[in-house]
Amino acid sequence: DRLMHTTGHLEVIVGPMFSGKSEELIRRVTRAVIARQTVAVFKPAIDDRYHQTQVASHNGRSIEAHAVQSSEDIRNLVYGNTPLLSSDDPLPEVIAIDEAQFFDAGLVPLVSELADKGVRVILAGLDQDFRGEPFSFMPEVLARAEVVDKLTAICVVCGGPATRTQRLIGNRPARYDDPIVMVGASESYEARCRAHHEVLK
Ligand code: ADP
Repeated sequence: DRLMHTTGHLEVIVGPMFSGKSEELIRRVTRAVIARQTVAVFKPAIDDRYHQTQVASHNGRSIEAHAVQSSEDIRNLVYGNTPLLSSDDPLPEVIAIDEAQFFDAGLVPLVSELADKGVRVILAGLDQDFRGEPFSFMPEVLARAEVVDKLTAICVVCGGPATRTQRLIGNRPARYDDPIVMVGASESYEARCRAHHEVLK
């Protein structure tokens, strides 16, 4: 199995919203737990779609996770550098991080370092933003990964493979310059293919 290396490495799962990234991360973590490996799961605290202590997929499955504010929080938790944990404890065998794109760029050196130290690191996140442009440091993560899976969703317009996330404000495609956080606007997201993905100027 190409995902069962014994030495440390980085696996990245990318794709648009609804492509099954969380589902796939949950599947890999569940298998590691069945194999009696030690696993730590993290997600950004800002993603409160569902539960603060779980990673949940759109199809309703979930696993326990630490909701954290920053890559520094992950560093402190995995190295046992908190009042709750001892720094004598070994690193987890597997570290999984969902919604990776919402972290700070300090995540990139941290996950490289953990892979160097023998940890199997699994990252899931968006490769592109709602404009169809590379999402912050995700290109660098993709370049550094040993294994990359780029998933597709179903385009809600044509039923083909969707590689992009359509942002809608009201019922209209979002504008290029619309801020990432719109206060008071009714906003939604859909999976779409390149041909049906729209960004207003
Ligand atoms: P992601 O983490 O990539 O946003 P999830 O793992 O949370 O994806 O959810 C994937 C699930 O979303 C699918 O199994 C399916 O049940 C549901 N879903 C809803 N809309 C779509 C769509 N347009 N294409 C594919 N799956 C969709």
